[in-house]
Amino acid sequence: MLSPYAQQTLVNALPIGAAIFTGPEHLIGAVNPQMLAIWSKEADVTGMKLLDAIPEIRDQGFFELMNDVYTSGKEHHNPDGQAELLVDGQLQTKYFDLSFKPLRDSAGRIYGVVNTAVDVTERTLYSKQLQQVNEELSAVNEEMEASGEELRTAYDQLEHTHDTLVITSQIAELLLESAPVAVGVIDAVSFKIDTANTKLLELWGVDRQAIGKPLAEVLSSFESELLTNLILKVRDAGHSLYGNDVKTMIERGGAWATTYYNFVYQPIRNGKGEVISVQIVANEVTDQRNAKADVDAVLVQLHLAQKAAHFGVFDLDVVNDKLYWDERTRKIFGVDPDKAIGYSSDFAEGLHPNDRERTLQAVIDAYDQQLTGGVYDVEYRVVDAANGNICWVKAVGQVYFNSEAEPQRFVGTVVDITGAVEARQKLEASEVQQQELNEELSAINEELSAVNEEYQAANEELTAMNDELRSIQEERTLLHRELEIREERLRFAMKAADVGTWDLDIVNNQVSWDERCKELYGFSKDDVVPYEQVLKYMHPDDMPHVNEAVMYALDPASNGAYDIEFRTIGAEDQRLRWLHCCGKAFFDDKGSAYRFSGIAQDITVQKMQADELTLTLLKVKEKEEQLTSAKEAAQLGLFDWDLVNKVYNWDARFREIFNLPDQDTFQDNSVVFERLHPDDVERVRQAAKRSQTYDRSSGGSYDIQYRISATEHSPERWVRAIGKTLFSEEGTPLRFIGSVLDITEQKQEEQRRIDFIGIVSHELRSPLTSLNGYLQMLEMSAKKNDDQFTNNVAAKAKRQVGKMSSMITGFLDVARVGEGKINIDNKPFDMADLVKAAESESLATITSHTVIYHPVEHTPVLADQDKIEQVLINFINNAVKYSPQGTTINVSAVTQNRQVRVCVKDEGMGIPAKDLPYVFDRFYRVDGEHMKTTKGFGIGLYLCREIIERHGGKIGVQSTLGEGSTFWFEIPVTH
Ligand code: ADP
Repeated sequence: MLSPYAQQTLVNALPIGAAIFTGPEHLIGAVNPQMLAIWSKEADVTGMKLLDAIPEIRDQGFFELMNDVYTSGKEHHNPDGQAELLVDGQLQTKYFDLSFKPLRDSAGRIYGVVNTAVDVTERTLYSKQLQQVNEELSAVNEEMEASGEELRTAYDQLEHTHDTLVITSQIAELLLESAPVAVGVIDAVSFKIDTANTKLLELWGVDRQAIGKPLAEVLSSFESELLTNLILKVRDAGHSLYGNDVKTMIERGGAWATTYYNFVYQPIRNGKGEVISVQIVANEVTDQRNAKADVDAVLVQLHLAQKAAHFGVFDLDVVNDKLYWDERTRKIFGVDPDKAIGYSSDFAEGLHPNDRERTLQAVIDAYDQQLTGGVYDVEYRVVDAANGNICWVKAVGQVYFNSEAEPQRFVGTVVDITGAVEARQKLEASEVQQQELNEELSAINEELSAVNEEYQAANEELTAMNDELRSIQEERTLLHRELEIREERLRFAMKAADVGTWDLDIVNNQVSWDERCKELYGFSKDDVVPYEQVLKYMHPDDMPHVNEAVMYALDPASNGAYDIEFRTIGAEDQRLRWLHCCGKAFFDDKGSAYRFSGIAQDITVQKMQADELTLTLLKVKEKEEQLTSAKEAAQLGLFDWDLVNKVYNWDARFREIFNLPDQDTFQDNSVVFERLHPDDVERVRQAAKRSQTYDRSSGGSYDIQYRISATEHSPERWVRAIGKTLFSEEGTPLRFIGSVLDITEQKQEEQRRIDFIGIVSHELRSPLTSLNGYLQMLEMSAKKNDDQFTNNVAAKAKRQVGKMSSMITGFLDVARVGEGKINIDNKPFDMADLVKAAESESLATITSHTVIYHPVEHTPVLADQDKIEQVLINFINNAVKYSPQGTTINVSAVTQNRQVRVCVKDEGMGIPAKDLPYVFDRFYRVDGEHMKTTKGFGIGLYLCREIIERHGGKIGVQSTLGEGSTFWFEIPVTH
């Protein structure tokens, strides 16, 4: 198990947040400043339970996780762990790259957990932001796609409508063309010819090219003016206008012909009811006109014939039944001029069978004087008896009666009216035709107006479509803008996250990657780099798993996911970089990937940190092993006291040394004190108490040697205990930890040495005393004889004897200390006097250094003056011994808090930090070049400490290697 000092050193060596927890309660054994920053804790939380130190994580699973690591030994690594931590009194969400590893002792038992954390909040938030932006982007894309689909449908509808419209207008054109009348439409505003069928064009005497041109351009000025006026009238009146029997000259077959037309000018309205154009329908009535003219002609002819006696005459002698036909009549009936004419044989027989009955009835009627007054007026057809020709005959006659009203004679005229009848029939036929035409026309008209309505509806639909299209386009523009903004935002996010982007168009085999991406491959920014180059600079070891990841992403089963870390070797700068690439492949309906794009991020630093961490952990392990082996080699026993909960831990070796029962934790520490040698109990209690009393300068240290009483099974033992108390920020002692070492053998060896020194010193003292006496006698005799030389030698020899005897006194003191025989003879005196005495002594003896004595106020103390002076002299002598010649030594004595503190400050070689705790130990000397030439036994400071501690004072040193040391002691001042 690592000592707390080692734990702290280890976590401090880590470049990332790290903490070591021990025991089932996860007591914080050590934590480095980075971890404290992560926890947002300023106070020293060492020794606290995890949940007491960071209560906010109670329900966040970390405690359970740590339990798991602690009990199962399983490591946990969570690269994006989320934690809610109190920062400035507020809970904040943070993300960490977390790892939890078990700590094992030499026996493989888990005694704690190492937790490391790297704050990846920023990175996680960036990648979350990135993901969000990506999602938004794909949403926009979908929206775009959807609106594209809508647009397409709208276009399809439009096209369909357009097709319908084209068909409709083709039908209309066809109908127009096949109409038996001249039809056309003139724009009522521009007076352009919209449509006109061949008949109308013919009527106007123009060709097809006239369509689309204004009337004034294609018709004579007279005609166009006439038509324009008519259209204006229709437009203004808003109803149809008619023109009958309008005479027109038209060119037919290269000759001019007079024609007659009936015109209808009909208004056509738009959706708002405005007259936008005028439809012209012109029906030729030349034939009717001509037929009428024919009848007229017949009448004229008849008249003329009458005048020219062109009648046929008949004369029937009713009584004698004799019929007379003149030549004209005979011609009409096709009867020879000489033939005797019979009523039945010639007249009745000559009648057209269809007309016979009617005609004969007309004769009978004429014979009825009362009925007709003898007037006979009938038209009938005659079948030419000679050639079978049929001709129409108008017969007019008069029956003459006798007084009895009996018909006597029947006289009349016949006239061939075939032409007239035909003309009339033609007229009638043409009237029927006209009627039919009219009906057809109105049907066409209806059809036309239906077409028109359809056209109108289509038009409206078109307008609506257009509006829709416009709004879709506007929406598209908006979406586009939105997309631009989002892309911009994405760019910013990418830039902030220092992320590069890449995009592979699989279909066209085109690659685009941005400057940052290029940089990540070690290309300079402006280089144009083809994709194939990219692979060259990938670390060869990573190639296979990158390939695997790409193949996986391009498989639809993976849903296109791509997330990988690999190394690149800079194309130009040869630098090794770690990249983290995330991306996504997109698939078409058939499941083949058509696009593959994503981002790349430089994670070299994180990777390096992780590597460093692994290395450090390895080192930790190594150190731990070293420590374990050292502990084992030295047979160290460990103690760990939880001062807050009063739980005491002693490891197996400790329990063995102290002969304690075999259990891990104890609720009471008195068992240890019971084992101590009765003479040492108080001293140990005091040392422990001192260590557990908060004092910034001593730092809670504990270093003591004491005895463990003999038992039935084991003899008395000497141990050295070294420890330290850990305090809270407020100075509350939390833990007391350290180790004990069995030094019985050392002690025995040392005791043997001290005993030897004691004996030797003792034995040396009496000859030395005698020697001193002889020297005094020699000195006296030399003085008497005025022997200067002998006198000098004797004085020098006396000085050497003095040095030797003080040395021997020192050794004897050491021996006495060991036996507890050093006597303190307390008397009141003034510290100022003591310093003064030291000053006058050093002025006489020290010439190599400048010793400055600072003024000392009257300071009464109750102490052994000789011994305190011995301490001060020792400090000053050491300062001289371990500082270069000519440097300054400062001596001061200042009272503070009822303690007088005496300091000796030199500008000498200083003491290495590692030696500082031991310079007051018996026989301890700092190793080094200088020490070889400086004599000493390492007992001066040891005696100093003994003397001061027996005065209930404190002794210490501050030193900087190469700059100098300040030795000090403190004893209480009396009032
Ligand atoms: P000694 O001087 O006889 O070796 P001390 O007990 O007086 O024994 O001192 C113990 C050790 O402490 C010395 O050997 C020396 O390494 C170191 N030391 C004592 N005083 C000083 C000082 N003023 N400057 C540097 N080192 C010192």
